[in-house]
Amino acid sequence: MRSLRSRQQFARLHRPRTFDQVLGQDKAVSALRQSVRSRAIAHAYLFSGPRGVGKTTLARLFAKALNCPHRKDDNPCNECDSCRSISMSQSVDVLEIDGASHRGIDDVRAIREGNECVSVQGGYRIILIDEVHMLTKEAFNALLKEIEEPEEHVLFLFATTEPHRLPLTILSRCQHYALLRVREDLIVQRMLSILESSGIEFEKAAILKMALLADGSLRDALTLLDRFSLPQQKITLSVVQEELGLVEEAFLDRVDNAVEQGDAMQAFVLVQGLMEGGFDLMNAFASLVSHVRSILIKILSKQGEVPHGYTQSRCARALDAFLNYQAKMQQLLCPRLGMELALLVLLSGSPSRKEPHTEGAHAEGAHPTATTEVKTGGKEDTPPRKESLSQGASQGASHPLPQPIHKKETSQSDLGNLDDTHNDEHIPPQVNLAEDEKLHVETIIRFASGYLGGTLKKY
Ligand SMILES: [Zn+2]
Repeated sequence: MRSLRSRQQFARLHRPRTFDQVLGQDKAVSALRQSVRSRAIAHAYLFSGPRGVGKTTLARLFAKALNCPHRKDDNPCNECDSCRSISMSQSVDVLEIDGASHRGIDDVRAIREGNECVSVQGGYRIILIDEVHMLTKEAFNALLKEIEEPEEHVLFLFATTEPHRLPLTILSRCQHYALLRVREDLIVQRMLSILESSGIEFEKAAILKMALLADGSLRDALTLLDRFSLPQQKITLSVVQEELGLVEEAFLDRVDNAVEQGDAMQAFVLVQGLMEGGFDLMNAFASLVSHVRSILIKILSKQGEVPHGYTQSRCARALDAFLNYQAKMQQLLCPRLGMELALLVLLSGSPSRKEPHTEGAHAEGAHPTATTEVKTGGKEDTPPRKESLSQGASQGASHPLPQPIHKKETSQSDLGNLDDTHNDEHIPPQVNLAEDEKLHVETIIRFASGYLGGTLKKY
C-alpha cells in the first residue's frame, strides 16, 4: 500500500493565479478580461460546466482581478492584501458560500444584511455561491430580489454543474459562461510540465491513461497525478492500472483479436478471464466502450490505425448495444451476463462485411501470411478472412448484384476455416448481413434466456 503522507497536492499548488494560467477556457477568459478592463460589470455571473474544469477557480480569479488595485494586464497582482485574503478564503469583501450546505432562505437573508455594508477594502462586495443549484425555492426567490434591485457595489458569482436546475428568473439575469471539458492534449501537456518541474520519473503511457480517465476534468487529472507521484518511484502504466483496478491493455488486445477472427465464443472466454483476474466488470465495460468509440472515431476521421475487423457499422451497432447493457449491468444481479452479451454483440457478425467510407490505415492491401490468412483487398474496409489463397480474395465483394454461390473444392485444411457466415466469398454482402443479424439476435436470445429465464426475450 502506498503512503498517503508523501503525496503531492498538484491541484492546489498549480491552481491558476492569473487568467494566463487558466487552461482550455479561452472564450470565457477573454470575455472576463474584457469586463475587468472596461469595468462593464454585470450584477450576476454564472459559471457552469462539468466538475473539475475550473468554475470556482475562474470565479475567484475574476473576483480577485476586480478588487485588485495593482492589476497587471487585467491579471490580479496576487500580492496585495485583497488578493492574498481572497487566495486564503479570508476576505471580508469576497464571501464564498457552499450552496449545498447553506441552501435556505435564512442564509440568503444573512447575505442581504451583509450587502448593506460597504466594501472594507474599497472594491466590490462579491458573493460567490458554489453549487448554487442546491438552493431552495424560497432561497432563490430571496436571491432574485437581490439581483433585481442590486446595490451598486455588490455582485454575485454563481458556480454550478447543473445550470438547468436554476429558475429561469435567475438564469435570465446572469451573464452565463458555460465552461468546457478541458481537452485531453492540454491536460497531458499540463501534467507533463508539472512532472518535469518536479523531477518525478514517469512513463508517458501512464500519463495518457490518467488524462483519459480524467474525462476533461483537470482537477481529476491532477488528483490522480498526486496519487501516483511519490519520491523515488517511477509512475508506470502497470502501477496505474493495478491500483485503479483497470483492465489491462492485454484485455483490449484480446478483444481486437477476437473481432479480427470473428470469434464470438471469445465473449465468454474473455469475461471468464476478467473474473479470474479479479477485475471490476464495470471498469472493464467502460474501457471497452471507450476503446470501440475511439476506433469508430478513427474510422470516421480516417485518421489513426484501425485494428483489423472493425467497421463503421460493427462499431456503431456495438456502441448502441453497449448503451442498453450499461443500464442493465447496473441493475442485474449478474453483471457478468451483461458484459458477455455486450461483447457478443461486438464479436458477432461477418468479418467479411463490406463497409463504405471506412478506408482506414489498416486497409493497405492483401498480404498473405504464413497461416494463409489474407486480407480481402486494398480498397475495401474488410477484415481479414481465413480462406484458401487460390480463391482470389478480392473478387467477391466487387459484384454489385447477388451472385450464385459457387461450390468449391475444399481441402481438409480449408474445412477447418468454414462456418455459416464466411464459407464462400461470393455470397453477396446483403445476404451476409441479413443472415448475420438473424444469427446475432438468435444467439443473444438463447444465451439471455438461459441465464435469466427469458426475461431478456425482447432481444
Ligand atoms: Zn492584488
